[in-house]
Amino acid sequence: MVVQTERDDTTWYECETCGLLFDEQSDATDHERMCDDSDPSYIQ
Ligand SMILES: [Zn+2]
Repeated sequence: MVVQTERDDTTWYECETCGLLFDEQSDATDHERMCDDSDPSYIQ
């Protein structure tokens, strides 16, 4: 699921599965929909 977090007065949305951070909730949601924990190979 997507976790909302604040850093440096900016709200970020984190994919709880792989830990990627997004500045747009819709981006995080789209990512999370495709993301599963079987292959976190695209770490930034
Ligand atoms: Zn992810």
